[in-house]
This record gives sequence, structure tokens and C-alpha cells, in this order.
Amino acid sequence: MATVFKAITTEDGKGIFHLFPALCKGCGLCIEKCPVDTIGWAKQLGVFGTPVVESGHGKPCIACKKCELVCPDSAIWIEKKEE
Ligand code: SF4
Ligand code: SF4
Repeated sequence: MATVFKAITTEDGKGIFHLFPALCKGCGLCIEKCPVDTIGWAKQLGVFGTPVVESGHGKPCIACKKCELVCPDSAIWIEKKEE
């Protein structure tokens, strides 16, 4: 079902943070690894009934893509904003 893969998008700093709630299992690894601590828990729950993540909680995103790389479930896609 296509809607399952609809992303939740947050714009923050240099990055556009796309989170695929159908893939995020709420492990928190991306929160731990983000160098500017901008990732935090969103209020809504994902399909597994666990909290999902969003950006916009700390310093502005620097679009380093570390979160995208460490996520074991490929739930994050970082798009770099045009300068
Ligand atoms: S791209 Fe880098 S700075 Fe932006 S949310 Fe991911 S880990 Fe944090
Ligand atoms: S690392 Fe991936 S699965 Fe874990 S909380 Fe972050 S986005 Fe969700």
C-alpha cells in the first residue's frame, strides 16, 4: 500500500528530514548519533506503536547524513537544502 511509505517531513537547518514511519521501529540510534542533537521523539506513534523521530529539537541540522547511514531500517532520507 503506497500510503504506508509516505514520509513525515521536517525542515530544519540545512537538511530536509524525511522519516518513513512505516520503517522506524523507535530504536533511538539516530538520536544518539546526530552531532547537533536535532533529532528527537515525535508526539505521534509509528506503525509499531513505538514513537518515531523528527528533526528540529536541537541545533540546526547540518545535513551530514549520519542519521540516514546509521538507521538499521533505512527509515530516514536526508535531502540537502539548496543554498
Ligand atoms: S543529517 Fe546529520 S545533523 Fe542532520 S539530523 Fe541527520 S545526523 Fe543530525
Ligand atoms: S535509527 Fe531508524 S529505526 Fe531507529 S529511531 Fe532512528 S529512524 Fe527510527
